[in-house]
Amino acid sequence: MVLSTQDSAIAVAAREIPERSSRKRSSLSENVQRQLDKAAEMMDLNTAVRKILSTTMNEIVVHFPVKMDDGRTEIFTGYRVQHNDALGPFKGGLRFHPMVSLDEVRALASWMTWKGAIARIPFGGAKGGIQFDPTKHSKSELEHITRRFTYALGNMIGPEYDIPAPDVNTNAQIMAWILDTYLSTVPPHDRQRCVHVVTGKPIEAGGSLGRDKATAQGIVYCIEQWAGDNRFKLDGAAVVLQGFGNVGSWTARLLKPFGARIVAVEDVTGSIYNSRGIDPDELFRYVSANKGVTGFPNAEAVDHDRFLQTRADIFIPAALENQITEETAPKLNVRLVAEGANGPTDPDGDAILQHRGIELLPDILCNSGGVIVSYFEWLQNKRSEAWELEEVDDKLKKKIVNAYRRVRETTKRYNTDWRTGAYIVALSHLEAVYKERGIFP
Ligand code: NAD
Repeated sequence: MVLSTQDSAIAVAAREIPERSSRKRSSLSENVQRQLDKAAEMMDLNTAVRKILSTTMNEIVVHFPVKMDDGRTEIFTGYRVQHNDALGPFKGGLRFHPMVSLDEVRALASWMTWKGAIARIPFGGAKGGIQFDPTKHSKSELEHITRRFTYALGNMIGPEYDIPAPDVNTNAQIMAWILDTYLSTVPPHDRQRCVHVVTGKPIEAGGSLGRDKATAQGIVYCIEQWAGDNRFKLDGAAVVLQGFGNVGSWTARLLKPFGARIVAVEDVTGSIYNSRGIDPDELFRYVSANKGVTGFPNAEAVDHDRFLQTRADIFIPAALENQITEETAPKLNVRLVAEGANGPTDPDGDAILQHRGIELLPDILCNSGGVIVSYFEWLQNKRSEAWELEEVDDKLKKKIVNAYRRVRETTKRYNTDWRTGAYIVALSHLEAVYKERGIFP
């Protein structure tokens, strides 16, 4: 299903569509297909299931008008792609970014399906976003864009149907606006039953303790497991971090008590380096005040290449996709890549890392803490409960450690890489569900 809506009656100001980077990037859905094909061949996945999972179920495109602060009206384009709901309601984040496209959202939606299957949570996969640069808008414009997008999606989202969450450039405040707008569109007596239409909400608006740090917490639990398996000491380990937003900054702060040293950090404003370590709490305060890592006093500025080549133990990409490629993978000087971002490594980058003996904890396992705690938030809302932080963290640890072990054992059994092992775990689970349910009619 492809839907498109446009309110053409309103005068429209021309909106610039940002140009894509001139650097050659592989299409994200091609990357997903290559990853899926490799695992499907290896495990001999049922042909019908392979066809179904290679395709998205619904793709919704909305064009909607929003009045700017100065009275002009601009048209925005938003997407919601629902990849698969065999395991439960569609679930996945919303991102606000100039590079958001249908291709990107398709790939991100598929990765959500695999994450739910690996973590054994009853969610399918979806993703969405609006193609624009939120840094160029005031808070009130952001609110209007968010609310108008939610209204345009209408009942294409819903607490038992498709549940958005935060992603790049979206946060608890954005989720609160989505919640409020959605609730305004349902009859008053249904409103209290619909609070779980989004997750990642502020605590006061029905959010869960621990959701803000959940993705990072999951990454740290995975790294801890990997360190245990490899007799690797996190105390004193050097870490390179790309991205210092929700996932990156929380990961840095959660690694601090282990004695890990963050030696290099990069964000959209530039890259910084300090061999003695960059204090994540100090950097967090600096970034909150200055909107980026550039200019941080206790580190030197370095260029992108030098950042990539930093000698360290662990590289954590926590920014955008397609960062570790044929061109950049040869430059990494680390032992482990722990993927916080979705799709940071393309298949060529993967092959080079494997060839160089650099281990990799794949996104669909390593960053699944976010969707796992989103599931806990959704459950708490449905049951009118509010769990303590320790309970959330304990349950997250159990889920993600079990997922880690499933992937580790499958990877060993098939004698393959961790990403393919993770795909086999996900695809086997989905295959079993399709076999039991059959394909209608
Ligand atoms: P965010 O918007 O909070 O932070 C993004 C960070 O990436 C910022 O520090 C930004 O400056 C940096 N960045 C952007 N473009 C960059 C570039 N070209 N080079 C270097 N740095 C750049 O987003 P987030 O929620 O932290 O998400 C980061 C990644 O983690 C995304 O891939 C997202 O899909 C993934 N992820 C997020 C969650 C979640 O719960 N938020 C869950 C799972 C996966």
